[in-house]
Amino acid sequence: IYILGIESSCDDTASAVLHNGKILSNVVATQEVHQKYGGVVPELASRAHQQNIVPVIHEALSRAGVSKEELSAVAFTRGPGLMGSLLVGTSFAKSLSLGLGIPLLDVNHMQAHILAHFIDEENYQKPNFPFLALTISGGHTQIVKVSDYFKMEVIGETLDDAVGEAFDKSAKILGLPYPGGPLVDKKAQAGNPKAFPFPKPKVDGLNFSFSGLKTSILYFIQKQLKENPKFIEENLEDICASIQHTIIGILMDKLKKAVKQTGIKEIAIAGGVSANSGIRKTLHEAQAKYGWKTYIPKFEYTTDNAAMIAIAGHYKFISEDFANMGVTAKARIKM
Ligand code: ATP
Ligand code: FE
Repeated sequence: IYILGIESSCDDTASAVLHNGKILSNVVATQEVHQKYGGVVPELASRAHQQNIVPVIHEALSRAGVSKEELSAVAFTRGPGLMGSLLVGTSFAKSLSLGLGIPLLDVNHMQAHILAHFIDEENYQKPNFPFLALTISGGHTQIVKVSDYFKMEVIGETLDDAVGEAFDKSAKILGLPYPGGPLVDKKAQAGNPKAFPFPKPKVDGLNFSFSGLKTSILYFIQKQLKENPKFIEENLEDICASIQHTIIGILMDKLKKAVKQTGIKEIAIAGGVSANSGIRKTLHEAQAKYGWKTYIPKFEYTTDNAAMIAIAGHYKFISEDFANMGVTAKARIKM
């Protein structure tokens, strides 16, 4: 089975070729235009997808050494995401499916982040059902009970900002360029995580809240700058380490609660923020500390990519769960 995956939900145009669960190519064109605006500009994202999509798909096929006539099906991200961005991938996938006479597979982007764990990779184990997925990305923060490939139940989620936003907005307060998440991670590695304690939000059950943290960081920094205008540059590593430590603490508290509530000790992390070195380390240590079995994705399958779309498509193909030509992009879509 050869699956072509297409991802265009936000600001990365991506395409991948998957053969029986193994990745043959995984191409991502990251859009640079948004950097100077400090965030993704939807209209510009849509235009950049239109420019990138043909060369990116060509590149994915050529790196895989697969011709389009060999493809078994084409999988694309239907949502959630930015409408103008999703439309580019959706329309292209439909045309390709029609032109080649092969099945079309619509994929939920958030399910795909989780299903990335089922890509065949040496030295990587696949989670066993049922498992809990902590999905942490630019737009979502969820704890998902995964009973089967497409049987997923959100048992906790953020009431306001996503954890990726918490990283990016904190970085912005510190004057770091967008997207700041990876930079906070880098600086944090050399800092003291206990230098500046930030309060954790009080939210019932398995839900999260990150908007209060952002506000307390802002007030703290403003106060410090009044006393010492060089506070940020003199303490950047400690500030980043402290922010990251607080975020990890919030995530771990809820995960522990979810394990207790469900009795499930198989835990997978997914989404762009699962690239974070502190989170990866903490999850790894949780195996010995709490007796969990944790699954940490290969780095290239954390932030947006089409390999995850292709593997989700692969399992839909096997169960013959095809889309028809009437399928439309959806900016908001449930698990
Ligand atoms: P969604 O998947 O919810 O639609 P998205 O696709 O925009 O959102 P992803 O690409 O999955 O999000 O993740 C991007 C987010 O991950 C950004 O907020 C980015 O800052 C964050 N991120 C990436 N690497 C790291 C890192 N090492 N540490 C912290 N955050 C990171
Ligand atoms: Fe994503």
